[in-house]
Order: sequence, then structure tokens, then C-alpha cells
Amino acid sequence: MSFQAIVAPEPGPAALRELSDSDLPEGDVTVAVSHSSLNYKDGLAVSGGGRIARSYPMVCGIDLAGVVEQSDSLAWLPGDEVLITGWGLSESHPGGYTERQRVRSEWLMTRPAAFSRQQCMAIGTAGLTAMLCVLALEHAGLPAESELVVTGAGGGVGGIAITLLAGLGHNVAASTGRTELHDYLRSLGAASIVTREELAQPSKPLESARWDGAIDTVGSQTLASVLARTRYRGAVAACGRAGGTDLPTSVAPFILRGVSLLGIDSVMCPAQLRAAAWSRLEHDLSAQRLDAMTTVEPLSRVPELAEEILAGRIRGRVVIETAG
Ligand code: NDP
Repeated sequence: MSFQAIVAPEPGPAALRELSDSDLPEGDVTVAVSHSSLNYKDGLAVSGGGRIARSYPMVCGIDLAGVVEQSDSLAWLPGDEVLITGWGLSESHPGGYTERQRVRSEWLMTRPAAFSRQQCMAIGTAGLTAMLCVLALEHAGLPAESELVVTGAGGGVGGIAITLLAGLGHNVAASTGRTELHDYLRSLGAASIVTREELAQPSKPLESARWDGAIDTVGSQTLASVLARTRYRGAVAACGRAGGTDLPTSVAPFILRGVSLLGIDSVMCPAQLRAAAWSRLEHDLSAQRLDAMTTVEPLSRVPELAEEILAGRIRGRVVIETAG
């Protein structure tokens, strides 16, 4: 059987190609993929600029949702609705920008009852990461009704993080470089707006303390500025690098204010923590707000959308409909 997929044949840009069953990789479950999603890492992989794939040819797409077609695993039966985020899809194993994929059964999880497959991919890696940040902040002792800042607010992780934190009763400042998104960010629950420029300015390692905590998707000077403005014994969950991978600060926030820097990884995150995060997403994430930040696009537009997300022009979450 032949099917469409977004494939990088070699290092460089990926494009829509026709594949057949003989192109499917090793694995014990074959999934009829219905949806995937667009994440910053997908932008890097599809544009070819980010050295994401570790072998070629590589089907891009770090997330997938669909229905089990064939299974050699006792854990899954044909007809089961499943999803995968991360676990090396599009890096070390072909990913979700395809109509069919073969995967390892231990990566699969059952579609959470609260969300449709499309909504699961609207959450995707971005939403899982946002929830992992919230869990890490709570584990670090985030008090009720805290004041927090979310950076890269207009993006996927940022939008879901704002919705989650505001829904939990916190006072959320959204940091964005796009004035046209202010009303949208307030509609997600942001109480105030901080300009991207303000946090991108060089700062001292310690500035006037302003927030109890933060979720940072930007890195570099932005993360350093956030750490400098975090209150005594506050915590910052760092998950992203949309603005760079460096961190121009000193140990001062950590040793003089007792600030904690919490590193967040969603790719190899253990299954038990994923399950806890999805369970909290089912409980805490407003499906209405999720839908309001989601657009749906066909597989054929992925190369164009990859450029858009790298240019910082995507708002919220993009679901990719893979089935033709
Ligand atoms: P998006 O592109 O959807 O969001 C990133 C946002 O960051 C943009 O919308 C923009 O927000 C802001 N931004 C973009 N470029 C810059 C820049 N040069 N300087 C400052 N801000 C910028 O990406 P995602 O939400 O999918 O991912 C966000 C980050 O988190 C990425 O770096 C990604 O790699 C990382 N990530 C990490 C994961 C992990 O497991 N650790 C998992 C998922 C994502 P605005 O216009 O509002 O300013």
C-alpha cells in the first residue's frame, strides 16, 4: 500500500513523498496515523536547519495520533486509539508526518477519554511539556495564587502553560514580542503582558524580585532576566531555546536568593510521569481554550509551516491532519 509522508531523504529540507509499506521501519505495532502536530523542533527538522534526525531517510513529525492497524504486542489490539509524543520520533525513529507508521508498542498510550485525537495533537509535545513544567513548579513548592511569568507566550508551549496556570488560580504575566497577540493572550487567562524586549535586555544577575516562578521557552538572555527577577526561593522551569541556548547569568540567583532552575525534558520523560501529566491535563486543561488556540492544517503545508514556526509567526498550536 502506498501513502504520503513528509520525508527528509538526507540532511537538508524535507518534502512530501510517496512511501510504501516496504519503507516502514521495524516495530511491533502499525498505526493508521490521523493527526500529528507542529512543534518548534518539527520546524528545525523539516527545514533541515536543526540537525534533528540522526539517520536518513527520516519521516519527520515528533508526535502522532491514530488507530492501531496491526499489532504483534499483547498490549494493543487493532482499532485501539493511540498516541505518541517524543520518544525519538523524527530523531532516531521515523515520525508522525505520515498516513501510516510502525512503532514500538511501549511508546504508545491510549487516547485520554477527555480529548479527541485532534485535541490530543493540539496538546502534543507542547502541551505535555507545559504540564511537566507545572508539575515541576508544584513539586518545587509553588504556593497557591502565585505570580508567574510565561515567556514565548504566543507559541504552543507558552499558550498551554498560560491556560493551565491561570486555570489553577495563579496570576500570569505573558511575555511576547507580538503586540497583536495581547488580546489573545488575555483570552487564555494572562493577567498582564510583558514585552519580549524588556526581558531580552542585558540584565544584572539579580534585579528587583517580581515573580514567584516562571515557565521559560526562550532561554538565553530571557531566561537570565527571568532568573534575576525571581523572588526568594522561587523556581523557574526551563524547557526551551527559541531565543538561544546560552545562559548569560551567574550563580547569584541560586546562592543568594535560593532560586531553583528546573530542567524539563518531554522526549525521554518516563512513562509514569507522562501518565501523571496527561491525567492532570485531562483534569486541568480547558478544551474550549485549547480549541481557541488551535488551527488545523493538511500534511502538504508542513514545509511552509516549518518556516513559519521558526520565524515566530505561528500562534498557539497547529494540528496536522495526516490522512488524505
Ligand atoms: P513556538 O514556536 O510555538 O513558540 C516559541 C515562541 O517563542 C514564539 O511563538 C515566540 O513567542 C517566542 N520566540 C520565538 N523566537 C524568539 C526569539 N528569537 N527570541 C525570543 N522569543 C522568541 O515553539 P514551541 O512552543 O513548540 O516550543 C518553544 C520552545 O520550547 C522551543 O525552543 C522548543 O524547542 C522547546 N521545547 C522543548 C521541549 C522539551 O522537552 N524541553 C518540548 C517542547 C518544546 P512570542 O511571539 O509570543 O514572543
